[in-house]
Amino acid sequence: MLIQRGGLKVVAGLGVSGVAAVNFLHQQGYRVAVTDSRETPPGFDQIPAEVQRVFGHFDEALLLQAEEIIISPGLDPKTPEIQKAVANGIAVISEIQLLRRATDLPIVAITGSNAKSTVTTLLGQMALDAGKKAAIGGNLGRPALDLLKDEPELFILELSSFQLEATSNLNAEVAVVLNMSEDHLDRHGDMQGYHAAKHRVFQGAKRIVYNREDALTQPLIADQIPRQSFGIHAPDLNQYGILRSDDGSMYLARGRERLINSAELYIQGMHNLANALACLALGEAIGLPMASMLETLKQFKGLEHRCEFVKALNQVRYYNDSKGTNIGASLAAIEGLGAAIEAKQAKLVMILGGQAKGQDFSVIREALQKYVKTVVLIGEDAGLIEAAIVGCCEIQHAKSFAQAVELCQQLAQPNDVVLLSPACASFDMFKGYEQRGRQFVELVHGLAEQ
Ligand code: ADP
Repeated sequence: MLIQRGGLKVVAGLGVSGVAAVNFLHQQGYRVAVTDSRETPPGFDQIPAEVQRVFGHFDEALLLQAEEIIISPGLDPKTPEIQKAVANGIAVISEIQLLRRATDLPIVAITGSNAKSTVTTLLGQMALDAGKKAAIGGNLGRPALDLLKDEPELFILELSSFQLEATSNLNAEVAVVLNMSEDHLDRHGDMQGYHAAKHRVFQGAKRIVYNREDALTQPLIADQIPRQSFGIHAPDLNQYGILRSDDGSMYLARGRERLINSAELYIQGMHNLANALACLALGEAIGLPMASMLETLKQFKGLEHRCEFVKALNQVRYYNDSKGTNIGASLAAIEGLGAAIEAKQAKLVMILGGQAKGQDFSVIREALQKYVKTVVLIGEDAGLIEAAIVGCCEIQHAKSFAQAVELCQQLAQPNDVVLLSPACASFDMFKGYEQRGRQFVELVHGLAEQ
């Protein structure tokens, strides 16, 4: 028999993290209720029968009875029912806050506009390979509260701005904002709101890692917290960066010390070198031995849907970067892959479009002009994107995703690269970026040789 304690906790929004929050609170002996606007939200059958639930709408009366509301990351805090609760003085927190309350163990907190999953996965692997009992998850993979079951010695968490905006005093062992570019402005209102949410990751952090080439990643507070930087230029003493040799080779470096030649790595592109350097800095902060980290790095092949090589057909290489769901990510892909084929006078033929999320597409004009022959537009915001990029390169419209891939094949010449990096959310045409990426891979495999 569990002891009931405290007031009512109401979980708003079910789904993967909502289920974890309900089950965690229930096991802890709290009175828990859950509400979701969907009639049968995902995971409705994975919570205890005795938990009160109201589905089909957000139950305002239930929310107003809460001692505390645990908001799922997918739910906008500006939802009127949540705002009403806030106006009534009810605290709204994330499931990450529950984790922080539940444990004093070290947390590595990783956020940024892009590269979160790559860095979290690579650092997680580095920690495991170095013999640490690390639990890895959060915004990627398993929800943070589920990780408690592993009884780990530390947590390595990917955190989204949505999770962070409802989290205070995370007190991370080490925290990083990897990079900052426009994203989710439809939810955060403007860049300032998005920036403020991301920077909550630094609250109470014991150490800080930042990207010295991206001023928006640096904590604003000038204090004595130890910090270390990474970047793709030559590093200062004790910082991470890249040293170049006369023969053009690039070395990941710590201060003047060359650690590894980039040619030894599977992962490609300057952005991925930056990601690797960020991992080394984070790993150093939690005491991972350098030799072991470098060994893991050498084995790391990158993640699916992130500049993933699909196949070569008629001397054209096809890349799936479906996780390029914002301009910053797609810019990294265009510049990374474009620069690699520039010397062969080759260019990119790329698929862009979907839901634009309020981003300003004119910022990719320069990169398109330099590296892209044709943009094939898809999705509901194709017109809006066209207006922002018109004149930079050839523009085509596709009526379907299959047609977009066929058009790319017709337009690409030998040595060109076909790239899916839509810079947009996918929900107008797909269930998510994974489905978009998988369909792209299938369509590419279905293309006939010409
Ligand atoms: P997140 O979890 O933050 O979305 P991912 O690792 O899943 O990050 O990568 C998302 C997208 O960002 C992919 O398209 C990937 O190619 C791109 N990307 C990866 N690293 C960087 C970087 N350092 N800067 C910009 N874009 C990047």
